[in-house]
Amino acid sequence: MPKKYLFQSHYRNVGSSRFGQRKPMGRPGVHIDPARFVNKAVEGEVIENFTPEHKFQDFKIDQRLITAIANKGYKTPTPIQDKIISHIIEGSDVVGIADTGSGKTAAFLVPLINKIMQNPREQILIVAPTRELAVQIDEEFRSFVKGMRIYSVVCVGGTSMGRQMSELRYRYNLIIGTPGRLKDLIERKMIYLSEFNTVVLDEADRMFDMGFINDTRFIINGMPRGRQTLFFSATISRDIERMIGEFTKNPVRISVKTRDTSKNVEQDVIKIDQGKTKLDVLSNLLNQKEFNKVLVFGRTKHGVEKLSKMLIYKGFRAESIHGNKNNSQRQRALGMFKENQVQILVATDVAARGLDIADISHVINYDLPSTYEDYIHRIGRTGRYNKRGMALTFID
Ligand code: ADP
Ligand code: MG
Repeated sequence: MPKKYLFQSHYRNVGSSRFGQRKPMGRPGVHIDPARFVNKAVEGEVIENFTPEHKFQDFKIDQRLITAIANKGYKTPTPIQDKIISHIIEGSDVVGIADTGSGKTAAFLVPLINKIMQNPREQILIVAPTRELAVQIDEEFRSFVKGMRIYSVVCVGGTSMGRQMSELRYRYNLIIGTPGRLKDLIERKMIYLSEFNTVVLDEADRMFDMGFINDTRFIINGMPRGRQTLFFSATISRDIERMIGEFTKNPVRISVKTRDTSKNVEQDVIKIDQGKTKLDVLSNLLNQKEFNKVLVFGRTKHGVEKLSKMLIYKGFRAESIHGNKNNSQRQRALGMFKENQVQILVATDVAARGLDIADISHVINYDLPSTYEDYIHRIGRTGRYNKRGMALTFID
């Protein structure tokens, strides 16, 4: 069966309220029905039967940008891109709700780069929840604007403040940052919010979950009232709804959800039999040929670090990312995994959120996720952009 996209102009009935937002204090995942970790009815071949209304050439954007998109290998817009780009070009505030891996980054970068091409003095702020995500947005941005004399600065924690401050003295059109570091730079008068007419909040749901709401509010409230605000999230909840009301003005709401969030991902559980350890079971899996690029989720920073060490001790090529590593350590681990220098990346939920890594063959939930939403985010790391993937969840 071909995968179908549902379009909804009102998203009241879309989203995650049924998944629950609560973060249980007890053992993670215990309230999630294990049946929800199983999906064996994956199509033999995932056929995209979505027909976009637009080609990239149809958007009122600069010819050089159209060329850059083609050079990047993007042939047709994804559903969220198809629906939202013209509204952003028109200057409306937008709220974009779409699954992970659906191309939200280009959905805002393409029209915003065009905005910069029309007005080289335009200054745009992008706020993202994690350093990794900010760097990733910047990489995509740079691949679009190569040779165009359009510049960006990444402002994230865990990196040299001095270097960021000196970069901010040069001309730039775009700042991509995490809330805490941005606030810091604003307070040091290195960033003047009054000069920014456009702001993007990417992964707003995670921004909220991570407790960045007050820093984000500080940033947004310092910007001009007449600004354009673009709000992106994979999920919607009452808290997110409140943020939308607070930060946007009459937004155009575009919701593009697949019928099943992770149809491309075959999902199954692995019961850990008595007398066996999760580590044994994991090692057996990792020795199989198909498990060539595996993202393993653990619950705590400490547990993730320990697991990656044990895997290395057992002779596997593994790396880890979690909040106890500094920025360059995290980037290095991520780079090695992206470039297939290691087979395995062990990660916490927070560290892995939003990461776009090509061709992950398997996601393994070594520890259960705390909520079904976290589960969906974890398995969304595989099966990206119509590729198939597999997710396995360990159950005691
Ligand atoms: P999201 O932010 O919605 O999770 P991303 O913006 O990270 O998704 O995009 C997911 C992947 O899809 C990336 O590898 C990106 O390069 C790719 N992609 C985005 N738009 C297109 C397109 N129009 N055609 C082909 N690939 C695309
Ligand atoms: Mg994204």
